[in-house]
Amino acid sequence: MEPISRRTFLGSVAASVAFTANGQLAFSQEVPGAQQMRIRESLAGRLAADLPAFDGVFVFDQSVCRAMATDYGHHIHHLPLGALLPKSVMDVQKAVRFANSHDLKLSMRGTGGAAYGQSQVKAGIVIDSSTLSHIAWVGADSIDAGPGALWKEIVEFTTTRQMTPPVVPDSLYISVGGTLNAGGLGETSYRCGAQVDHVVELDVVTGTGDLLTCSPSRHADLIQMVLAGMGQCGLIVRARLRLVPSPDQVVVRRFTYEKSGDFLSDLAMLASAESEGAIAGDFNLESDGKTWTPVITITSIRSREPAWLSQITGKQTQAAITQSFVEYLNRNTEEYMATLASGARFLPHVYMHFFLPAGQTPAMVDYLMNTPGATLGADEIAVFPMINANFKQTLQRMPVGSLSYHMRIYRVAAQEGSPDHLRMLELNQKECLPRIFASEGTVYLPFSPLLDSSQRLRQFGQSAWNRLMAAKATYDPRGVLTPGAGLAHLDAKEPLESTRSRTALVHPW
Ligand SMILES: Cc1cc2nc3c(=O)[nH]c(=O)nc-3n(C[C@H](O)[C@H](O)[C@H](O)COP(=O)(O)OP(=O)(O)OC[C@H]3O[C@@H](n4cnc5c(N)ncnc54)[C@H](O)[C@@H]3O)c2cc1C
Repeated sequence: MEPISRRTFLGSVAASVAFTANGQLAFSQEVPGAQQMRIRESLAGRLAADLPAFDGVFVFDQSVCRAMATDYGHHIHHLPLGALLPKSVMDVQKAVRFANSHDLKLSMRGTGGAAYGQSQVKAGIVIDSSTLSHIAWVGADSIDAGPGALWKEIVEFTTTRQMTPPVVPDSLYISVGGTLNAGGLGETSYRCGAQVDHVVELDVVTGTGDLLTCSPSRHADLIQMVLAGMGQCGLIVRARLRLVPSPDQVVVRRFTYEKSGDFLSDLAMLASAESEGAIAGDFNLESDGKTWTPVITITSIRSREPAWLSQITGKQTQAAITQSFVEYLNRNTEEYMATLASGARFLPHVYMHFFLPAGQTPAMVDYLMNTPGATLGADEIAVFPMINANFKQTLQRMPVGSLSYHMRIYRVAAQEGSPDHLRMLELNQKECLPRIFASEGTVYLPFSPLLDSSQRLRQFGQSAWNRLMAAKATYDPRGVLTPGAGLAHLDAKEPLESTRSRTALVHPW
């Protein structure tokens, strides 16, 4: 499939689309008569006759549906029947009610950043949230954001008043709705928890099409099962986010290590000692393709020397760098733009992100560093320390103990469906997942293969799982919402063979 970004294709949608306006199937002038006839006779065309009138547009165009049938992973492809570009919250409600009455599945899609098909719907409806991206101040220290607002837009908005969300993701080009469904982690998470820990209230369209405002004091069961809930109980159509003052400048220091044990110990020490900053650890693969160098990057907001400098055991390889806070937030923007320009954004990303109890992490590091082939496709493995007590949301479940490490294996394959790509999927599913759960760890759902029923129980724990299923039965009784996340809709794990055949089916259209 030709790489095409969502925003690019949305720009070109007007060129040749079949869409419904006021409940009627209509075509732009460029669509040939024979194609119009084919669409009218298709299932989509027949459904179109029943579609409600939307403020936005409901699109059947194949280029739109194809773009919705892939994501950052590029190994799972479910072609939807159509996509809604909503103009109002009422559009979202109408689409959900339509899905209920026509026995269709439906999901909302942010940027398609999740890598295992979580935002996709086979023969159903995808609601593209990018058209709901308003941002507005609410008092001096919070904002309301539409689900499709990108974090880039959020921080550009808030830093004009020297404010920032407490946790900002590494890439700014993912949506508010998407990260609040995933959890939302950043370099400050060790002390601030996840983005879902800083939500004041949400407007949610439930699986029955009702619009509910929920907060810790209002429909508390709903907000708890929506935050980090991968779209199972409702679609977020507005999020009120708490902000904190942002610094003008930050100071960045980098340290390298020879031994992974010293690297992990320093990350643990810093998680307690650096009370205001941001921490990131990485194993970087050297150009010899064999040696992994551990590096810690600490971003402090005070210019004076931090007290931990006397305790750190790593070697400072370059002088501290002072930069503006906005430059720091955008530290990955240039590289992200380069991946778009070069097409690398559209390579298969076979990421595996997870959390391990501190005591189990050295064994995983040892497995990755010392097992031939275990790191296939990765030239960076990130490691972040996390103080578990700072994560308060039920579905953002952390391992037991006071400290854990969040690890991210960034595998990228050169070609979809290639032997290396399949081997990377197999490594994640057959090697990493069993090790993570055997170590009492948990996964980060957008960057994990779909879980089987026993893994889901280990992920959430029996009590949280029961609560999620009870909320699903209440708020999405017909099981319409977000089948791609593989949480409530799959009774058995998708076997690897199915992933293989789906990977082989890279272009089902
Ligand atoms: C380049 C890149 C960098 C990343 N960096 C980070 C990072 O630093 N920290 C981090 O935590 N994560 C990171 N992620 C992962 C990211 O948080 C998840 O992939 C998240 O799901 C992305 O948001 P999205 O807008 O792409 O969501 P999508 O992938 O479109 O959606 C994710 C899931 O949420 C559902 N969903 C989306 N919007 C809504 C909504 N409004 N209501 C209900 N359900 C919804 C979808 O149906 C799907 O199941 C990164 C991803 C990418 C691609």
